[in-house]
Amino acid sequence: MNDFTFYNPVKLIFGKGQLSKLAEELPTYGKKVLVVYGGGSIKKNGLYDELMAVLQEVGMEVHEFSGVEPNPRVSAARKGAAICKEEDINVILAVGGGSVIDCTKLIACAAKYDGDPWDFVTRKAKPTDALPFGTVLTLAATGSEMNAGSVITNEETQEKYGWGSPFNFPKFSILDPTYTLSVPKDQTIYGIVDMMSHIFEQYFNEASNTPIQDEMCEGVLRAIIEDAPKLVEDLDNYELRKTILLAGTLGLNGFLRLGYQGDWATHEIEHAVSAVYDIPHAGGLAILFPHWMRYNVHVNPDRFAKFAKNVFGVNPEGKTTEEIAFEGINRLSAFWSSLGAPERLAYYGIDDSKISLMAEKVTVNGKIGRFSKIGREDVEEILRVAL
Ligand code: NAP
Ligand code: FE
Repeated sequence: MNDFTFYNPVKLIFGKGQLSKLAEELPTYGKKVLVVYGGGSIKKNGLYDELMAVLQEVGMEVHEFSGVEPNPRVSAARKGAAICKEEDINVILAVGGGSVIDCTKLIACAAKYDGDPWDFVTRKAKPTDALPFGTVLTLAATGSEMNAGSVITNEETQEKYGWGSPFNFPKFSILDPTYTLSVPKDQTIYGIVDMMSHIFEQYFNEASNTPIQDEMCEGVLRAIIEDAPKLVEDLDNYELRKTILLAGTLGLNGFLRLGYQGDWATHEIEHAVSAVYDIPHAGGLAILFPHWMRYNVHVNPDRFAKFAKNVFGVNPEGKTTEEIAFEGINRLSAFWSSLGAPERLAYYGIDDSKISLMAEKVTVNGKIGRFSKIGREDVEEILRVAL
């Protein structure tokens, strides 16, 4: 473990009926709020009406920016930032999943910047100020509600990158599992795959782990593996939604990687795939992660064997370290398939025609990954075996 400083200022407000806390949180930042949301799921499940009632009660001046799409676009952030400037907005409220929250992070920074928001994503510029924002999370997956990351797509250049800034921490995030009850089966599965992938990215890291780090990662993973299959069969179950919602937040709020940098190559490869083909983020991860693992067992077979034993309960008796490692990876593939996640890129109609384009995009600044540094040819190989 490396020396570290841990800083996470997000006020996490968790549980049934917690939307009412907005009345305390929001007005402290001013009267004019921009509510950012997606394609309308919050209108269907009743959250929008409840939200408006609370905002009215405290006398907020409400402006709206809706239609943020999955894999949020820089063009949406440009529009949102323009509204903030025109209307002199004081605070933003993101209501939705990771896409709405990620887009809001860029809007918040761009609202205080004269240049193009894409500059922040490409690291051409660093935010020096931002509007404050809070979130009401409706989908368990990304952890964006309690981290400073954001992933944005430029549809014109077919690029999708993650970027971060201390200004990207929400001031508060309200997590009421009730609002995740309406998440359809496919998105529920994607969320589970995404949060598990975040933990893998951190579990396979560049430093030697302490037992504490490993136990935390393995424990959260075991809880997900225990409850996810039940949830997929019982989508209305509040208790199961609660476990999965909390797991998604813990999966990527910095807590599981104290003193480490995760690998993150699989996420980078997936971002290139969804930049080119606009597929769901976790659909890509479900396909790619087992292949990244198989490709990298040789880097540290003991680590993969530990993962197999402690997360999937693989019996090590009479097996070599490599055999244990591969059995763990096969169990992971089987687990995701049993939930209903896709297994091959062909599921999304992806063939080999753009493999080199995607590999080029991912490695444009050199090798990627920290557990295992991989280059363009490695990425091409991982994509090819995933076809
Ligand atoms: P999402 O893209 O925010 O939402 C996916 C779909 O779920 C949307 O169509 C949305 O519909 C619907 N939905 C959301 N809540 C719902 C509810 N309660 N009931 C019914 N439908 C609901 O999904 P996500 O997985 O949370 O976010 C994915 C994005 O986050 C990707 O771009 C990914 O790259 C990024 N990401 C970010 C981080 C990070 O740390 N910042 C980490 C990993 C991934 P509506 O639009 O109608 O609401
Ligand atoms: Fe992710």
